[in-house]
Amino acid sequence: MIGNVSVVCAWCSSVVTPGGEYVSHGICPECALNFLKKLPREYLETIAEPDGTVTLLSGHKLDIAAAP
Ligand SMILES: [Zn+2]
Repeated sequence: MIGNVSVVCAWCSSVVTPGGEYVSHGICPECALNFLKKLPREYLETIAEPDGTVTLLSGHKLDIAAAP
């Protein structure tokens, strides 16, 4: 089942994980970073790992230092 699923970004429609005929929606790293940039830095720091990254549901790790 999992091998037949393509994950497509719900925001920009880019393919996050190429798969098969079925489509699931997720978020690509670019859109996730844009989303994180809108959150207060103080909040990001509360959800960040000790190494300063935030792990998304998609499994991508983003460095919050990249946010303003
Ligand atoms: Zn996207």
